[in-house]
Formats: sequence, C-alpha cells, structure tokens
Amino acid sequence: MIILGIESSCDETAAALVTADRQVLAHRLLGQEAAHAPFGGVVPEIAARAHVEALEPLIVAALADAGLKLADVDAIAATAGPGLIGGVMVGLVTGKALAHAAGKPLIAVNHLEGHALSPRLSDPDLAFPYLLLLVSGGHCQLLLVEGVGAYRRLATTIDDAAGEAFDKTAKILGLGFPGGPAVERAAALGNPKAVPLPRPLKGSAEPHFSFAGLKSAVARVVGDYPPEDIAASFQAAVVDCLIDRTTRALNGLTVTPTALVVAGGVAANGAVRGALQTLAATRGLRFVAPPLWLCTDNAAMIAWAGAERFAAGLTDPLDTAARPRWPLDPAAEAVRGAGV
Ligand code: ATP
Ligand code: MG
Ligand code: FE
Repeated sequence: MIILGIESSCDETAAALVTADRQVLAHRLLGQEAAHAPFGGVVPEIAARAHVEALEPLIVAALADAGLKLADVDAIAATAGPGLIGGVMVGLVTGKALAHAAGKPLIAVNHLEGHALSPRLSDPDLAFPYLLLLVSGGHCQLLLVEGVGAYRRLATTIDDAAGEAFDKTAKILGLGFPGGPAVERAAALGNPKAVPLPRPLKGSAEPHFSFAGLKSAVARVVGDYPPEDIAASFQAAVVDCLIDRTTRALNGLTVTPTALVVAGGVAANGAVRGALQTLAATRGLRFVAPPLWLCTDNAAMIAWAGAERFAAGLTDPLDTAARPRWPLDPAAEAVRGAGV
C-alpha cells in the first residue's frame, strides 16, 4: 500500500511517497526561507503563492523518484490544518483534485497528528501508549498518544511555543531566520551558565509551559553579554523547562507509557534530545526521537499519518474543509477558560 503525502501548512512545500510497511519511497521538500527572511518571519500571502508554484513540480518529482505513476498510489493524504489557511488550502485542494482525478481516497491529515505519529515511521517498535513532547513552531504540548486519533493532551503552553521562543530569540540576537538552528549553532560557542535567565512555570503543579517571559528576559540582557552566551543560556533555560514539565507529566501518569517520545521542529535540537534521553534513562523508559529531517515539517510524516489512518479505515470526503485551527484533543481545548 502506497500513500502520497502533501504538506503545505507553513513555509515548507513537500510531497512524499510512503508505504504502509514504512518505506519512504521518495520525499521532496522546498523551503521558503529566502522569500521570508527579509521580513524576519513567515508572511502568509507570500507562503500561499510559493506553495502554488512549488507543489505540482514537487509531486511530479516525488513520483519520478519512486518510479511510480499516480495510478500506483493507493490513497492521497494532505494536511488539512492547523496552519496558515492559504497554504493549507493549496495543499488540500491539490490533494482533492488528484484524489478525484485518479479515483483514490482522500485522507485529510491534522498536521499535528503528522508530527505525533512521525516517530512510528522511523521506529517500527514504538507502540501505544507513549508520552509525547510535541515541540514545534506553533505548539508546545505533552500528549499521551493512546492510538491513531486518540490523543490526550496533558499540557500546553499558556503563551508562546518553544520553537517560537527560539525564533524570537534569534531575531532579538540578530542571528537570522529560521531561528532554531541559528540559536543552536550560536549556543555551541557560548557558556550556558553565563546569563541568568528565568525558568517560567518551573516547579508548578500542572505540567504546562510558558516561554514569553524568557523571551522578554533575553531582550533585556541583549548587549550586556556576548550573543553566544545569551544563546547558550537561553537554550539551557528552554531545556530546563521542557525537562521539568515532562518530569511533572510523567509523575502524573496513571498508565505506564512504552516510551518517552519527542517530535516537531524543536526535536531537531541536540540539547533537547540529549536531555530527554537522559530523563528517559533515569526513568527506565525507552527514548524515541525521529531523525532530524523527520522532525521539521515534511510530507513523509503526512503520508505516514495517512497510512495509519487508512489502515484504521479512516478516509475523508472531497468536500472536507481546511481548518486553520484544529486541536488534536478537542476536549482539552474546550477547557481553555483557565488560560490554557
Ligand atoms: P507547527 O508544527 O506547530 O504547526 P511549524 O510546522 O511551523 O509549527 P515545525 O516545522 O514543526 O513547526 O518546526 C519549526 C520550528 O522548529 C521553528 O520554530 C524552528 O525554529 C524550530 N527548530 C528547528 N530546528 C531547530 C533546532 N535545531 N533547535 C531549536 N529549534 C529548532
Ligand atoms: Mg518551517
Ligand atoms: Fe510542523
């Protein structure tokens, strides 16, 4: 069984072909960094236009890489949200058109489900339930992944996402865009103990996250220390918060997870991966992190989530709407009244 995956929810246009037995037959990706860099962040209108230009050639190239025709594909999985509505619509409409033309089922994939299940593409032994730290550009959540479509959100950020904090810190330090890799490179040259920075919500009872105060603290010390020391100290503070909050979530679990898992763009960070690996080891848990290319946005994770959903008998009608907001755990989202 072969799934074509399409991703266009932010600033990566991507197409991939993945089999139900975890072979990545092809994956193509075109980033838009150069187009957005002058603005220091993703400009939705520019992103949507770039997806329109890039997507069809990427799908054609991915099929050619795999030596396949559209007729060989068993189903088409496209990101249907959450994300920038213009971009999501480009990918979803393309997926619908291909599904209609080829007479194949459509699978409308939640981008966050793509991140959440991506570790199962790279690790065939990863079984449910697992505790997932989902750390990306727009999200910072702890989820108990109980099965395909069964996500229990234990915690989320009350303000910024972890990736957003990396991106804003990079901007404040003048390190460029996208910020995560730039901060990690600068941090490698700095002293993580040089700059006193806060650890928001560290020690609090609920395992929620907060990063806005950390970003503001970075803005206050800029110029007082070498940027490398600020980057290293910022990264250490983020890691501290992630570990403290994940520990809290582990302590509150009523089931024993099969593994501690990290996914999303920030999971590409070496310090984050290393600290989580240590935490898992101290708890006697297996640690699973996807390879770096599978952490940041890509279409293989969308194809894989499509394969998992298809195997569970889940397909979607061609009038499925794009959803700029689409929580993985609607029940948890509904109790946001307390600010979370
Ligand atoms: P979401 O998945 O929440 O919709 P997104 O798709 O924009 O958001 P991802 O592509 O999953 O996010 O991740 C991008 C984020 O990951 C960016 O904020 C980026 O700075 C961060 N990131 C990427 N690589 C690293 C790294 N090495 N260290 C820290 N952060 C990183
Ligand atoms: Mg991106
Ligand atoms: Fe993402």
